[in-house]
Amino acid sequence: MAELRRDPVVGRWVIVNTDDSLHPPDFEKEEHVFRQADVCQFCYGRERHTPPEVDVIRPSNTPANTAGWSVRVIPNKFPALRIEGELNKRGLGIFDISNGVGAHEVVIETPEHFKKFADLSEAEMLNVIKKYQSRFISLSGDRRFKYIMIFKNYGESAGASMEHAHSQIIALPMVPKYVLEELEGAQQYFNFRGRCIFCDIIYQEYQDQDRIITENTDFIAFCPFVPRFPFECWILPRKHTSQFGSLNEEEQHHLANLLREVLSRIKISLSDPSYNFYIHLAPVNQGNPGSYHWHIEIVPNLTRVAGFEWGTGFYIVRTAPHVAAKYLREAKI
Ligand SMILES: [Zn+2]
Ligand SMILES: [Zn+2]
Ligand SMILES: [Zn+2]
Repeated sequence: MAELRRDPVVGRWVIVNTDDSLHPPDFEKEEHVFRQADVCQFCYGRERHTPPEVDVIRPSNTPANTAGWSVRVIPNKFPALRIEGELNKRGLGIFDISNGVGAHEVVIETPEHFKKFADLSEAEMLNVIKKYQSRFISLSGDRRFKYIMIFKNYGESAGASMEHAHSQIIALPMVPKYVLEELEGAQQYFNFRGRCIFCDIIYQEYQDQDRIITENTDFIAFCPFVPRFPFECWILPRKHTSQFGSLNEEEQHHLANLLREVLSRIKISLSDPSYNFYIHLAPVNQGNPGSYHWHIEIVPNLTRVAGFEWGTGFYIVRTAPHVAAKYLREAKI
């Protein structure tokens, strides 16, 4: 028997197989073969082959763009959008156009070519979170940008083109539609109930218990009641906040630990699948949407989006979230 479930934030309907869930062994396995260390531009000693670093964690006695760093942020050599120029919004008949202005950066998460993101040490993961935050703050200072998207593609089938561990940041001159839907849903709920929808989701997760994966003082991770994909995981700050830029040192630590733990649990339960994660943050440079609650969504790449999904926006989820959460909770890390 399946259940139709409606996402309370964006109103999207999904079909969840509640009785005959797919289990980890039912999914195809993907091998991750590392082979290109000898030519990799993200490795030590090849810093001159990338655009100059824009942000970095390195000992003060090492010159910029040389070895010795622990996290390095560089502009993408093949950017989706370019930082120079003005937007020049205009119309072409019924179409809206503007110049492809934006920023596209790469966060090289470790100098070690063969290390996977899920295997970073606590200190390394903390450094990555620190750089996410400092790039977010720095890019937000550019008034042309309205949205900063931080995301990661791990594994070839999830879109990673370099095997050396890295994530990406794209600053956009407009707010993307998926985020806009969440912002509007959150605002409507706030107008109606006077509360944050994401805070209410967290409350419900604590009531139901069976979809929670793990938690610490500042963050909670769970498999949402209305996922789009099997083993989809969300990480949210437990206290209401729309502000990512103001995470303090302790919160950075707790976020790094929880993200690391959830990724290890995914890696162990699902035999190291490819995955994507992205951070849904509030827009920048257009007022403070206080009703929003930032969060991370992690989507293991286990199934393919097919005709029904493309045509309807419905998703068929063959693993119920409480089943997925149980596997993740019980994984021996
Ligand atoms: Zn490398
Ligand atoms: Zn909230
Ligand atoms: Zn979201």
